Amino acid sequence: MISGIPVSEGIAFGKVLLIKQKDIMIKRKKILKEEIHLEIEKFKKSINYTIKQTKSIKKHAKKNLGEEKSNIFEGHIMILEDEEFSKDIIDLINDKYTAETAVKKIIEKQINEMKNIKSLYLRSRIADIKDIGKRLISNILKVNIKNLKKINKKVILISKDFTPSETSQIDVSNVLGFATELGGKTSHTSIIAKSIGIPAIVGVKNITKKVNNEDYIIIDSINNEIHINPKKNIITSKKKIKEKFLKEIKNLKMFKKLKAITLDGKIIKIGANINQISDINIAKKNGAQSIGLYRTEFLYIDKNTLPTEEEQFLTYKSMAKEMKNKEVIIRTLDIGGDKNCKYLNLPKEDNPFLGYRAIRIYMEKKTIFNTQLRAILRASKYGKLKIMFPMIISLKEIHFLKKELNNAKKELKKEKIQFNKNIKIGIMIETPAAALISNDLAKEVDFFSIGSNDLTQYTLAVDRGNQLVSDLYDPMHPAVIKLIKMVVKASHSHGKWTGICGELASNPNAIKFLLKIGIDELSVNSPDIPNIKKIIRNSYFQRKE
Ligand code: PEP
Ligand code: MG
Repeated sequence: MISGIPVSEGIAFGKVLLIKQKDIMIKRKKILKEEIHLEIEKFKKSINYTIKQTKSIKKHAKKNLGEEKSNIFEGHIMILEDEEFSKDIIDLINDKYTAETAVKKIIEKQINEMKNIKSLYLRSRIADIKDIGKRLISNILKVNIKNLKKINKKVILISKDFTPSETSQIDVSNVLGFATELGGKTSHTSIIAKSIGIPAIVGVKNITKKVNNEDYIIIDSINNEIHINPKKNIITSKKKIKEKFLKEIKNLKMFKKLKAITLDGKIIKIGANINQISDINIAKKNGAQSIGLYRTEFLYIDKNTLPTEEEQFLTYKSMAKEMKNKEVIIRTLDIGGDKNCKYLNLPKEDNPFLGYRAIRIYMEKKTIFNTQLRAILRASKYGKLKIMFPMIISLKEIHFLKKELNNAKKELKKEKIQFNKNIKIGIMIETPAAALISNDLAKEVDFFSIGSNDLTQYTLAVDRGNQLVSDLYDPMHPAVIKLIKMVVKASHSHGKWTGICGELASNPNAIKFLLKIGIDELSVNSPDIPNIKKIIRNSYFQRKE
């Protein structure tokens, strides 16, 4: 039995699919003259296979992501079918390079040529070229690369790590659960696992070395236990625990439709945190009264180019309409930290969580910000949208963000495009700096939302995604609690409301404290909503218990 950091509750039983993320190593660069024709044969077979493979990826993408996104792969197919592309590679093989080295050289040449192009769009195609090269070389070398979208049998995934975008691709009908070697309680990978509701344990030492494909495995994230090829009696006892767990979930069902009202009559608003439009259904089914946090970065990271204004507008508009008169808080792009966006070619950093992240990127890439603001404003006509800015540390930033928002409003007015002129704006309080100056910040905005995930990591100097320090990651640490109290007090003294959208909002041990300090909204992962409502309905708001 092994354990790690349980991040999403449940028990899963199934066969292992080990996802190896080896960097593709090219060991042999040159061949002998006599080997040339065999190498060309190998290349031709691999390119044909890669074309077939890409066609199937495209089909899958069309089904899951829609026509427009699947067209990215049409571009890949065109390049793979291009005779010039193959000819350049074959020429290099004739110069006695191995097929994989020849592909690598041609891909690198194309990337270098593209790097000098001015157009952001064309430069963003570099990610596509890299992707094509990786797929082709891995097929020549017969190495598997990760494609989580293509899993078509019921499995439990084991990997060193998953990026947040990979986790968001997981098809819950086939992936029963997962375990990884890296990650922390509130890393975005863990948050996504929670929001899609599959059992997951991260930070499991050496798990990729301890299992083989097709091993039978149990992931019990309720008790933090992983059993590899367990004995029958363990399977039987775990099945009983699962039954009990499912029964409890069933019992919680009745709370979905109920209000979160305390025993002394205070109603608390319960919102859902979502990462993509399809999460809205899950949120509504679980009884969300609002969307307290929409992490828009997932519109940007799971693709190869920036989403256009129109694409964003349509997404935000559908959300507004889906939620009807309930509010949707759209948080502007929070890229950086553990959420990378390959095509933006952001510099590699030693301390990404302390670096170029969220609004810090907007100052330089104003067009990206303007496009998003225009899209949100245009969609604001269709429902109750609010805008929220992440990673605030100063008043100066608020002035900049408000100025940009006003510019976007002016543009739309000039273009005679309608929008909600009085759209409410709020900020995430997720840095100690913001908490400490919350009294000044409260004068500038309509609401606060406490991001306890980041607030904890920045207050305690503990990386939220690092399993080595996960024991020190404590959102109930007196220092964090003190800051949270301070923020709620500051906002209320200016007549503004404060919600909390970090994972602390769904921690049963924190609810009483949050009620006591007068939190106005809790926004949590959808599967947690019924339990939170149940706890609130059994708690007092003011009376000491
Ligand atoms: C937070 O930091 O608590 C938060 C909700 O934002 P994210 O998890 O997306 O960083
Ligand atoms: Mg945050």
